[in-house]
Amino acid sequence: NPASLVAVMMNLGEMVTATQSVSDETLHLLAGEMNYTVQIVSPEEEDRELLESFDLEFGENEGTEEDLVVRPPVVTVMGHVDHGKTRLLDAIRKTNVIAGEAGGITQHIGAYQVATEVNGEDRAITFIDTPGHEAFTAMRARGARSTDIAILVVAANDGVMPQTVEALNHAKAAEVPIVVAVNKIDVEGADPTKVRGQLTEYGLVAEEYGGDTMFVDISAKQGLHIDNLLEAVVLTADAALDLRANPHQDAQGIAIESRLDRGRGAVATVLVQRGTLRVGDTMVVGDAYGRVRAMLDDSGNTVAEAGPSTPVQVLGLTNVPGAGDNFIVVEEDRTARQIAEKRAARERNAAFAKRTRRVSLEDLDKVLKAGEVQQLNLIIKGDASGSVEALESSLLQLDVGEEVDIRVLHRGVGAVTESDIDLAMGSDAIVIGFNVRAAGRAAQMAEREGVDVRYYSVIYQAIEEIEAALKGMLKPEY
Ligand code: GDP
Repeated sequence: NPASLVAVMMNLGEMVTATQSVSDETLHLLAGEMNYTVQIVSPEEEDRELLESFDLEFGENEGTEEDLVVRPPVVTVMGHVDHGKTRLLDAIRKTNVIAGEAGGITQHIGAYQVATEVNGEDRAITFIDTPGHEAFTAMRARGARSTDIAILVVAANDGVMPQTVEALNHAKAAEVPIVVAVNKIDVEGADPTKVRGQLTEYGLVAEEYGGDTMFVDISAKQGLHIDNLLEAVVLTADAALDLRANPHQDAQGIAIESRLDRGRGAVATVLVQRGTLRVGDTMVVGDAYGRVRAMLDDSGNTVAEAGPSTPVQVLGLTNVPGAGDNFIVVEEDRTARQIAEKRAARERNAAFAKRTRRVSLEDLDKVLKAGEVQQLNLIIKGDASGSVEALESSLLQLDVGEEVDIRVLHRGVGAVTESDIDLAMGSDAIVIGFNVRAAGRAAQMAEREGVDVRYYSVIYQAIEEIEAALKGMLKPEY
């Protein structure tokens, strides 16, 4: 029981309380003392074991060398705010999108594919259409490898800024090669040479200076040199990576974003990483599953199949998967359901564990001194899983001093519901609605019960306000 564990720890010379969380080393030490062996399993390992129990494996191509064919690189655009990520993604899309048969209306499904010509050859590139490293980080945090190449956008009039460095560090940590887009060269005072010099300090040395990073001067606004940038992406991929996949196997890949559509149910954009996904396939995506009822490409056209590096919107899932969840096609509906249910149960356990996490050892001292740790509980609802996760990870990264703890009790896609308000009441949480409103009687209920529900449509605004609120919690009240 907890009391005797505390006693054992004390004998080992460590002062602990029964409710605090302890480090992995302490756990090993404690277990060793009691003749147990502790095996610490990461969520990824746990999931691998789950799939193995169904004789499935995620992440490897099946077959032999001969089965592999070249696949397009998957690219994420990163960089400091206002340096032109969104504008660049729009410019690329406008000039190069592979026109659908019916010339369908462009659909923002979270990713798109463009065609470009390199050395007289037609080559395709897949872009993840959510700028910013938050989405990238959220996906990576879940162990998803979504990106082959990162385009680092740096405005030539502004130069390297804090988020530029942050973004390049994320790409480096993920071992993703970087192509630098020096943007806004049309602006007065633009100094592309200076950008090259600045980035040298961070290990990104331009080819023309003897390094191995490609820098391309562009104007996203005027559509200048966009083709050169695309060419640089393909050349970098060819030089640094061996991007091949087996199209002749059951499809695997990751979910990029998803939402609940009033008429169509769960709508998820997935990126096929290997194999070919077909209408009628049974898939499991995170804790969602279902039979693919229909697929739409980035031009809104229905398609029957999608090969490696192709993003498609999938209809027919039971519920909404999270950004970065992997998907795998399985033979039997039953298998898909069982895997999904096991994962859902695990998620619930993890959420519970998070919620009941107590003050950490380092905090203890402060708690004793200050009386109590302040805690801000949040419930985040949004229109798409990508934005919800981006918002969550940004909020959790807020640095507001150690006296305040941010907890996300619940997050999800969809309107703010009465059950959200209920949860907020029970735990003194603030509810955040990102691009969604309160459904049904939820608004009245919140009003009646005095639950703070805040609506935002811009991530930065949400972060700023929560940050301010947190700072307020630190101030003494009279
Ligand atoms: P993001 O925050 O990185 O996504 O930046 P945006 O794409 O929203 O761009 C920020 C601002 O810079 C917008 O007003 C854009 O129109 C502008 N902008 C982006 N690229 C260029 C460019 O090449 N030249 C000029 N003059 N303005 C640009």
